[in-house]
Amino acid sequence: MTASPLAPAWLSVPADLNDPRPAGRAPLFPASTRRVDGALEIGGVSVKELQAAYGTPLYVVDEGELRSRAAAFKRAYDAAFAPLCGGADVYYAGKVFLNTSVARWVAEEGLRLDTASGGELAVALAAGVAPELIGLHGNNKSDAEIERALTLGLGRIISDSLDEVRRVAAAAERLGVTAQLMLRLTPGVHASTHEFIATAHEDQKFGLSLHPRAGQERSDAAEAVAEALASEHVHLLGLHCHIGSQIFESAGFAEAARRLIAFLGEVKARHGVQLPELDLGGGYGIAYTEQDTPSTPEVLAAETAAVVAEACAAAGIDVPRISIEPGRAIAGPAGVTLYSVGVQKDVEVETAGGEAAPRRYVAVDGGMSDNARPVLYDADYSALIASRESDAEPLLARVVGKHCESGDIVVRDAYLPADLGRGDLLAVPATGAYCWSLASNYNYLPRPAVVAVTGGTHRVIVRGETETDLLSRDAGIA
Ligand SMILES: *Cc1c(COP(=O)(O)O)cnc(C)c1O
Repeated sequence: MTASPLAPAWLSVPADLNDPRPAGRAPLFPASTRRVDGALEIGGVSVKELQAAYGTPLYVVDEGELRSRAAAFKRAYDAAFAPLCGGADVYYAGKVFLNTSVARWVAEEGLRLDTASGGELAVALAAGVAPELIGLHGNNKSDAEIERALTLGLGRIISDSLDEVRRVAAAAERLGVTAQLMLRLTPGVHASTHEFIATAHEDQKFGLSLHPRAGQERSDAAEAVAEALASEHVHLLGLHCHIGSQIFESAGFAEAARRLIAFLGEVKARHGVQLPELDLGGGYGIAYTEQDTPSTPEVLAAETAAVVAEACAAAGIDVPRISIEPGRAIAGPAGVTLYSVGVQKDVEVETAGGEAAPRRYVAVDGGMSDNARPVLYDADYSALIASRESDAEPLLARVVGKHCESGDIVVRDAYLPADLGRGDLLAVPATGAYCWSLASNYNYLPRPAVVAVTGGTHRVIVRGETETDLLSRDAGIA
């Protein structure tokens, strides 16, 4: 079959519509995925067994995949930075997908945990993660969040405004404790996928600028460092940046590291203090579709370490302890969402060349409430027939949800078998990050359960919502 004129240029007609992990491209499904008697099996568990036990839609997370990705980051960054600064700390960015099970898995793999609100912090604590291993982010922390972090003795509070540095110092004084503080700066580097843009100023809500504004004597970053160092109740650990998301190459991280390290050199020159830590943030990309070619932690770590060593030598400082904050790259590829196929509709679309071409709309039993990324970010996903094999012709399809919204797309473009029918299961891979955490109850759909699979077993790690849950907060119900 030739490609549909409606298909994006990157989408190829699959040689085999049933293959979850075609050779020669970045895998989309967890490494454990295979077909047994026609049905997809993940973590040794058949999707048909999952469907029978839990229904659909269903978030499936391959525990082994998530753990091995967490461990791979820790191993790679430790290895690359061991000769420079004794190793690296890897903070799992909890916002991508957090519950007590996942928090424990990453902690057991030697990671620390970043949170960005009191609620995320509550999950980390409920999981038993030691407060010293938890960081608290957020551009607008409440006083209550700051006091809780200080009272608990969190490993670090990452502040990104002068206002907050002062509030943290005052709260620490009030409570008689020392705040472990990092400062989030805007290095002027914004990276995504294959490119990065470097500017002086940044037009965004996060971070302290490295450059003075017109009429300002010193930058907000320099001011924050001076105030933090001057406070007896603050221990300034170091600097932090987070330059983007879905990044495949190390060049952006390298440029951000160069800029922050140069600033560390300035801090040393001005204050005679060498700050002990530098966090390069998250943003490591994954494969959502065949167009994606993510790098490996080994390559990224080695390339970044080389630049850090060189920049520290140039700045005349010792290499600080390095930390990173991967989120998506740990949880994303470990997740697969299962849907049941419902209504299908064939439409004819006029192509740019004025011809008519067919597109099949395949509606599933979830949608933008369980995966908001296509609507929010124009994100691409892929889909695979999961409950059986098919040798039918490939057909260009669009997988859509059941919400009252025409933008409710799950997979914008995918070739699916022409004999796809009601009740067939579809598997959408790479849904482990920013899907469950962004889920909503739009149209009063209950949020699906999260089921962990590993070694042929399955268990619920977050139960699905029921209609009772949906009504439970309505104060008008007696
Ligand atoms: C979102 C975020 C991360 C994780 O980003 P990923 O793209 O999921 O790796 C890390 N650090 C900070 C500060 C973030 O806001």
